[in-house]
Amino acid sequence: MTHKVGLYIHVPFCLSKCPYCDFYSVRYSREEAERYADALIRNIKHYEREFDSVYFGGGTPILLHEHIAEILKAADITEDAEITVEANPCLAIPEFLDDLRRAGVNRMSFGVQSMNADELLFLGRRHSMKQAENAVRNSHDAGFENISADMMIGLPGQTEDKIKHTAEAIAELGVTHISAYILKIEENTPFAQSRPELPDDDRTADLYLYTAELLEKLGFMQYEISNFAKPGYECKHNLKYWRCEEYLGVGPAAHSYFDGKRFCVAQNINAFMNHQNEVITDDAPGGWDEYAMLKFRLTEGITYEEAKRFGKRDEFIRKAEKLPRSLVNITDRGVNLTKEGFIVSNSVISELVF
Ligand code: SF4
Repeated sequence: MTHKVGLYIHVPFCLSKCPYCDFYSVRYSREEAERYADALIRNIKHYEREFDSVYFGGGTPILLHEHIAEILKAADITEDAEITVEANPCLAIPEFLDDLRRAGVNRMSFGVQSMNADELLFLGRRHSMKQAENAVRNSHDAGFENISADMMIGLPGQTEDKIKHTAEAIAELGVTHISAYILKIEENTPFAQSRPELPDDDRTADLYLYTAELLEKLGFMQYEISNFAKPGYECKHNLKYWRCEEYLGVGPAAHSYFDGKRFCVAQNINAFMNHQNEVITDDAPGGWDEYAMLKFRLTEGITYEEAKRFGKRDEFIRKAEKLPRSLVNITDRGVNLTKEGFIVSNSVISELVF
Protein backbone atom coordinates (compact mmCIF):
# COMPACT_ATOMS: atom_id res chain seq x y z
CA MET A 1 0.00 0.00 0.00
CA THR A 2 1.37 3.43 -0.90
CA HIS A 3 1.23 6.16 1.73
CA LYS A 4 -0.68 9.43 1.36
CA VAL A 5 1.26 12.49 0.29
CA GLY A 6 0.76 16.26 -0.06
CA LEU A 7 -0.07 17.99 -3.35
CA TYR A 8 1.37 21.44 -4.15
CA ILE A 9 -0.15 23.24 -7.15
CA HIS A 10 1.72 26.30 -8.43
CA VAL A 11 -0.44 29.03 -9.96
CA PRO A 12 1.98 31.37 -11.75
CA PHE A 13 -0.27 34.39 -12.34
CA CYS A 14 -0.14 37.82 -10.70
CA LEU A 15 -1.91 41.09 -11.47
CA SER A 16 1.41 42.92 -11.05
CA LYS A 17 4.84 42.09 -9.70
CA CYS A 18 5.79 43.12 -6.13
CA PRO A 19 9.35 44.59 -6.08
CA TYR A 20 10.74 42.10 -3.52
CA CYS A 21 9.30 38.89 -4.98
CA ASP A 22 11.27 36.26 -6.87
CA PHE A 23 8.53 33.60 -7.14
CA TYR A 24 7.85 32.51 -10.68
CA SER A 25 4.80 34.28 -12.10
CA VAL A 26 3.56 35.89 -15.32
CA ARG A 27 0.94 38.59 -15.88
CA TYR A 28 -2.60 37.23 -15.53
CA SER A 29 -4.89 36.83 -18.49
CA ARG A 30 -8.24 35.06 -18.33
CA GLU A 31 -7.64 33.02 -21.49
CA GLU A 32 -4.22 31.82 -20.39
CA ALA A 33 -5.55 30.96 -16.92
CA GLU A 34 -8.23 28.76 -18.52
CA ARG A 35 -5.66 26.93 -20.64
CA TYR A 36 -3.44 26.59 -17.57
CA ALA A 37 -6.25 25.05 -15.51
CA ASP A 38 -6.79 22.45 -18.27
CA ALA A 39 -3.06 21.67 -18.29
CA LEU A 40 -3.07 21.23 -14.51
CA ILE A 41 -6.00 18.81 -14.74
CA ARG A 42 -4.31 16.74 -17.45
CA ASN A 43 -1.09 16.55 -15.45
CA ILE A 44 -2.65 15.79 -12.07
CA LYS A 45 -4.69 12.88 -13.51
CA HIS A 46 -1.43 11.28 -14.51
CA TYR A 47 -0.47 10.58 -10.84
CA GLU A 48 -2.43 7.79 -9.18
CA ARG A 49 -1.93 8.66 -5.54
CA GLU A 50 -4.09 9.65 -2.61
CA PHE A 51 -3.41 13.16 -1.26
CA ASP A 52 -4.17 14.20 2.30
CA SER A 53 -3.22 17.88 1.89
CA VAL A 54 -3.43 20.27 -1.05
CA TYR A 55 -1.77 23.69 -1.24
CA PHE A 56 -2.42 26.15 -4.08
CA GLY A 57 0.54 28.55 -3.98
CA GLY A 58 1.76 31.21 -6.29
CA GLY A 59 1.59 33.58 -7.85
CA THR A 60 -1.98 34.44 -6.96
CA PRO A 61 -4.00 31.19 -6.92
CA ILE A 62 -7.35 32.86 -6.12
CA LEU A 63 -7.27 34.11 -9.74
CA LEU A 64 -8.18 30.50 -10.68
CA HIS A 65 -11.24 30.52 -8.36
CA GLU A 66 -13.64 29.30 -11.09
CA HIS A 67 -11.42 26.31 -11.88
CA ILE A 68 -10.39 25.10 -8.42
CA ALA A 69 -13.36 22.68 -8.15
CA GLU A 70 -12.47 20.94 -11.44
CA ILE A 71 -8.78 20.82 -10.56
CA LEU A 72 -9.53 19.20 -7.19
CA LYS A 73 -11.83 16.66 -8.88
CA ALA A 74 -8.87 15.51 -10.98
CA ALA A 75 -7.02 14.34 -7.85
CA ASP A 76 -7.79 11.59 -5.35
CA ILE A 77 -8.12 13.60 -2.12
CA THR A 78 -9.00 12.24 1.32
CA GLU A 79 -12.21 13.47 3.01
CA ASP A 80 -10.31 15.17 5.83
CA ALA A 81 -7.60 16.79 3.67
CA GLU A 82 -6.41 20.31 4.50
CA ILE A 83 -6.91 22.33 1.28
CA THR A 84 -5.29 25.80 1.25
CA VAL A 85 -5.51 28.60 -1.30
CA GLU A 86 -3.18 31.61 -1.13
CA ALA A 87 -4.78 34.95 -1.97
CA ASN A 88 -4.07 38.60 -2.33
CA PRO A 89 -6.48 40.42 0.06
CA CYS A 90 -7.79 42.68 -2.73
CA LEU A 91 -9.22 39.62 -4.50
CA ALA A 92 -10.99 38.10 -1.49
CA ILE A 93 -14.48 39.12 -2.54
CA PRO A 94 -17.56 37.07 -1.50
CA GLU A 95 -18.17 35.61 -4.99
CA PHE A 96 -14.60 34.24 -5.33
CA LEU A 97 -14.55 32.92 -1.76
CA ASP A 98 -17.89 31.15 -2.31
CA ASP A 99 -16.43 29.41 -5.38
CA LEU A 100 -13.51 28.18 -3.27
CA ARG A 101 -15.71 27.04 -0.40
CA ARG A 102 -18.02 25.10 -2.73
CA ALA A 103 -14.95 23.46 -4.28
CA GLY A 104 -13.96 22.09 -0.85
CA VAL A 105 -11.21 24.55 0.07
CA ASN A 106 -11.00 24.81 3.88
CA ARG A 107 -8.02 27.07 4.54
CA MET A 108 -7.20 30.56 3.24
CA SER A 109 -3.76 32.18 3.38
CA PHE A 110 -3.57 35.93 2.81
CA GLY A 111 -0.49 37.98 1.92
CA VAL A 112 -1.38 40.83 4.30
CA GLN A 113 2.31 41.75 4.98
CA SER A 114 1.58 44.89 7.02
CA MET A 115 -1.24 46.91 8.54
CA ASN A 116 0.71 50.17 8.13
CA ALA A 117 -0.07 52.18 4.98
CA ASP A 118 3.53 53.36 4.43
CA GLU A 119 4.87 49.79 4.63
CA LEU A 120 2.27 48.50 2.14
CA LEU A 121 3.30 51.28 -0.22
CA PHE A 122 6.99 50.44 0.17
CA LEU A 123 6.24 46.75 -0.57
CA GLY A 124 4.31 47.69 -3.71
CA ARG A 125 1.23 45.80 -2.54
CA ARG A 126 -2.04 46.35 -4.39
CA HIS A 127 -4.26 46.08 -1.31
CA SER A 128 -5.16 48.53 1.46
CA MET A 129 -5.50 47.82 5.18
CA LYS A 130 -9.28 47.99 4.76
CA GLN A 131 -9.11 45.29 2.06
CA ALA A 132 -7.02 43.09 4.36
CA GLU A 133 -9.70 43.44 7.06
CA ASN A 134 -12.46 42.71 4.56
CA ALA A 135 -10.60 39.68 3.22
CA VAL A 136 -10.65 37.99 6.63
CA ARG A 137 -14.25 39.09 7.37
CA ASN A 138 -15.49 37.89 3.97
CA SER A 139 -13.71 34.57 4.54
CA HIS A 140 -15.47 34.11 7.88
CA ASP A 141 -18.80 34.96 6.22
CA ALA A 142 -18.09 32.41 3.47
CA GLY A 143 -17.59 29.75 6.17
CA PHE A 144 -13.79 29.64 6.45
CA GLU A 145 -12.58 29.11 9.98
CA ASN A 146 -8.93 28.30 9.27
CA ILE A 147 -7.26 31.50 8.02
CA SER A 148 -3.59 32.43 7.83
CA ALA A 149 -2.00 35.84 7.27
CA ASP A 150 1.59 36.67 6.29
CA MET A 151 3.39 39.63 7.83
CA MET A 152 6.81 40.99 6.97
CA ILE A 153 9.57 42.11 9.30
CA GLY A 154 12.93 43.82 8.76
CA LEU A 155 11.54 46.66 6.61
CA PRO A 156 13.51 49.93 6.35
CA GLY A 157 13.15 51.96 9.55
CA GLN A 158 10.61 49.49 10.97
CA THR A 159 9.90 50.00 14.68
CA GLU A 160 8.56 47.65 17.33
CA ASP A 161 5.41 49.81 17.41
CA LYS A 162 4.74 49.23 13.74
CA ILE A 163 5.14 45.47 14.16
CA LYS A 164 2.86 45.59 17.20
CA HIS A 165 0.22 47.46 15.24
CA THR A 166 0.29 44.90 12.40
CA ALA A 167 0.35 41.82 14.66
CA GLU A 168 -2.45 43.07 16.91
CA ALA A 169 -4.62 44.20 13.99
CA ILE A 170 -4.25 40.81 12.27
CA ALA A 171 -4.86 38.89 15.50
CA GLU A 172 -8.01 40.92 16.22
CA LEU A 173 -9.49 39.84 12.91
CA GLY A 174 -9.64 36.27 14.23
CA VAL A 175 -7.04 34.49 12.09
CA THR A 176 -5.75 31.10 13.26
CA HIS A 177 -2.21 31.24 11.86
CA ILE A 178 0.44 33.91 11.19
CA SER A 179 3.63 33.58 9.10
CA ALA A 180 6.23 36.27 9.89
CA TYR A 181 8.92 36.51 7.21
CA ILE A 182 12.10 38.59 7.24
CA LEU A 183 12.43 40.71 4.10
CA LYS A 184 15.43 39.69 2.00
CA ILE A 185 16.68 41.29 -1.16
CA GLU A 186 16.55 38.59 -3.84
CA GLU A 187 18.56 38.75 -7.08
CA ASN A 188 16.65 39.68 -10.24
CA THR A 189 14.00 41.70 -8.41
CA PRO A 190 13.43 45.47 -8.59
CA PHE A 191 14.71 45.74 -4.98
CA ALA A 192 18.03 44.23 -6.13
CA GLN A 193 18.38 47.33 -8.33
CA SER A 194 17.03 50.02 -5.99
CA ARG A 195 18.70 48.42 -2.90
CA PRO A 196 16.50 49.83 -0.11
CA GLU A 197 18.38 50.24 3.16
CA LEU A 198 17.31 47.39 5.41
CA PRO A 199 18.02 47.16 9.17
CA ASP A 200 21.39 45.54 9.94
CA ASP A 201 21.60 41.95 11.22
CA ASP A 202 21.52 42.89 14.94
CA ARG A 203 18.49 45.12 14.51
CA THR A 204 16.71 42.47 12.38
CA ALA A 205 17.44 39.89 15.08
CA ASP A 206 15.89 42.20 17.69
CA LEU A 207 12.79 42.69 15.53
CA TYR A 208 12.50 38.93 14.96
CA LEU A 209 12.70 38.16 18.70
CA TYR A 210 10.23 40.93 19.47
CA THR A 211 7.77 39.57 16.87
CA ALA A 212 8.09 35.96 18.03
CA GLU A 213 7.45 36.89 21.66
CA LEU A 214 4.60 39.24 20.78
CA LEU A 215 2.82 36.64 18.61
CA GLU A 216 3.06 34.12 21.44
CA LYS A 217 1.52 36.65 23.85
CA LEU A 218 -1.29 37.04 21.32
CA GLY A 219 -1.92 33.27 21.47
CA PHE A 220 -0.02 32.14 18.36
CA MET A 221 2.53 29.53 19.39
CA GLN A 222 5.71 29.27 17.38
CA TYR A 223 6.10 25.89 15.65
CA GLU A 224 8.61 26.80 12.93
CA ILE A 225 11.22 29.54 12.38
CA SER A 226 8.66 31.79 10.65
CA ASN A 227 5.33 30.19 11.58
CA PHE A 228 2.95 30.65 14.51
CA ALA A 229 -0.45 29.10 15.10
CA LYS A 230 -3.33 28.87 17.52
CA PRO A 231 -3.19 25.35 19.05
CA GLY A 232 -4.22 22.74 16.47
CA TYR A 233 -3.96 25.12 13.48
CA GLU A 234 -0.38 24.41 12.38
CA CYS A 235 -0.29 24.09 8.58
CA LYS A 236 -0.46 20.32 7.91
CA HIS A 237 0.78 20.67 4.35
CA ASN A 238 3.85 22.74 5.18
CA LEU A 239 4.68 20.44 8.12
CA LYS A 240 5.28 17.72 5.53
CA TYR A 241 8.15 19.76 4.02
CA TRP A 242 9.87 20.24 7.36
CA ARG A 243 9.27 16.65 8.50
CA CYS A 244 10.90 15.45 5.28
CA GLU A 245 7.73 13.70 4.12
CA GLU A 246 6.70 13.22 0.50
CA TYR A 247 4.72 15.68 -1.61
CA LEU A 248 4.08 16.16 -5.30
CA GLY A 249 4.49 19.61 -6.87
CA VAL A 250 2.65 20.37 -10.12
CA GLY A 251 3.22 23.43 -12.32
CA PRO A 252 6.22 25.43 -13.59
CA ALA A 253 8.81 26.01 -10.84
CA ALA A 254 7.19 23.40 -8.55
CA HIS A 255 9.43 21.09 -6.53
CA SER A 256 8.62 17.55 -5.43
CA TYR A 257 9.80 14.83 -3.11
CA PHE A 258 7.83 11.99 -4.56
CA ASP A 259 8.28 8.25 -5.00
CA GLY A 260 11.71 8.41 -3.41
CA LYS A 261 13.12 11.20 -5.60
CA ARG A 262 13.40 14.98 -5.54
CA PHE A 263 12.62 16.72 -8.81
CA CYS A 264 11.64 20.14 -10.14
CA VAL A 265 9.79 21.54 -13.13
CA ALA A 266 11.27 24.28 -15.37
CA GLN A 267 10.09 27.87 -14.80
CA ASN A 268 8.30 28.05 -18.11
CA ILE A 269 4.53 28.13 -18.32
CA ASN A 270 4.40 27.39 -22.05
CA ALA A 271 6.56 24.30 -21.71
CA PHE A 272 4.36 23.12 -18.83
CA MET A 273 1.18 23.54 -20.90
CA ASN A 274 2.47 20.67 -23.08
CA HIS A 275 3.82 18.46 -20.37
CA GLN A 276 5.15 18.53 -16.80
CA ASN A 277 8.82 17.92 -17.62
CA GLU A 278 10.50 16.76 -14.45
CA VAL A 279 14.22 17.12 -13.83
CA ILE A 280 15.53 14.88 -11.05
CA THR A 281 17.60 16.87 -8.57
CA ASP A 282 18.25 14.07 -6.06
CA ASP A 283 17.62 10.39 -6.59
CA ALA A 284 18.39 9.36 -3.02
CA PRO A 285 16.88 12.03 -0.75
CA GLY A 286 15.95 11.74 2.92
CA GLY A 287 19.46 11.25 4.38
CA TRP A 288 20.47 12.52 7.83
CA ASP A 289 21.87 15.90 6.64
CA GLU A 290 18.73 16.79 4.76
CA TYR A 291 16.40 15.46 7.45
CA ALA A 292 18.17 17.42 10.20
CA MET A 293 18.40 20.66 8.17
CA LEU A 294 14.63 20.60 7.68
CA LYS A 295 13.51 19.23 11.02
CA PHE A 296 15.53 21.68 13.13
CA ARG A 297 13.43 24.48 11.59
CA LEU A 298 10.59 23.17 13.77
CA THR A 299 10.30 23.92 17.47
CA GLU A 300 9.77 20.17 17.99
CA GLY A 301 13.42 19.68 16.94
CA ILE A 302 14.84 16.14 16.72
CA THR A 303 14.37 13.35 19.21
CA TYR A 304 17.13 10.91 20.21
CA GLU A 305 14.99 8.15 18.65
CA GLU A 306 14.98 9.94 15.29
CA ALA A 307 18.76 10.46 15.44
CA LYS A 308 19.15 6.75 16.30
CA ARG A 309 17.26 5.76 13.13
CA PHE A 310 20.11 7.38 11.17
CA GLY A 311 22.81 5.89 13.43
CA LYS A 312 23.65 9.42 14.68
CA ARG A 313 22.42 9.41 18.29
CA ASP A 314 25.70 9.64 20.19
CA GLU A 315 27.39 12.02 17.77
CA PHE A 316 24.29 14.26 17.82
CA ILE A 317 24.22 14.47 21.64
CA ARG A 318 27.97 15.19 21.78
CA LYS A 319 27.65 18.05 19.28
CA ALA A 320 24.57 19.54 20.97
CA GLU A 321 26.33 19.58 24.36
CA LYS A 322 29.11 21.77 22.95
CA LEU A 323 26.66 24.54 21.95
CA PRO A 324 25.54 27.35 24.30
CA ARG A 325 22.19 26.72 26.03
CA SER A 326 20.99 30.08 24.72
CA LEU A 327 20.92 28.52 21.24
CA VAL A 328 19.73 24.94 21.88
CA ASN A 329 17.44 23.21 24.38
CA ILE A 330 18.57 19.75 25.42
CA THR A 331 15.77 17.73 27.01
CA ASP A 332 15.08 14.09 27.97
CA ARG A 333 13.48 13.63 24.56
CA GLY A 334 15.86 15.37 22.21
CA VAL A 335 17.25 18.71 21.02
CA ASN A 336 15.60 21.80 19.57
CA LEU A 337 16.70 25.33 18.69
CA THR A 338 15.70 28.25 20.92
CA LYS A 339 14.36 31.53 19.48
CA GLU A 340 17.93 32.93 19.62
CA GLY A 341 19.09 29.74 17.90
CA PHE A 342 16.57 30.31 15.09
CA ILE A 343 18.16 33.72 14.36
CA VAL A 344 21.44 31.99 13.48
CA SER A 345 19.82 28.72 12.44
CA ASN A 346 22.12 27.98 9.49
CA SER A 347 25.27 28.02 11.59
CA VAL A 348 23.68 26.24 14.59
CA ILE A 349 22.27 23.48 12.41
CA SER A 350 25.63 23.08 10.63
CA GLU A 351 27.34 22.66 14.02
CA LEU A 352 24.81 19.99 14.97
CA VAL A 353 24.80 18.10 11.70
CA PHE A 354 28.19 18.29 9.95
S1 SF4 B 1 4.38 38.61 -3.59
FE1 SF4 B 1 2.63 37.41 -4.31
S2 SF4 B 1 1.36 38.89 -5.43
FE2 SF4 B 1 3.38 39.83 -5.23
S3 SF4 B 1 4.44 39.24 -7.12
FE3 SF4 B 1 4.98 37.70 -5.59
S4 SF4 B 1 3.53 36.06 -5.88
FE4 SF4 B 1 2.69 37.87 -6.96
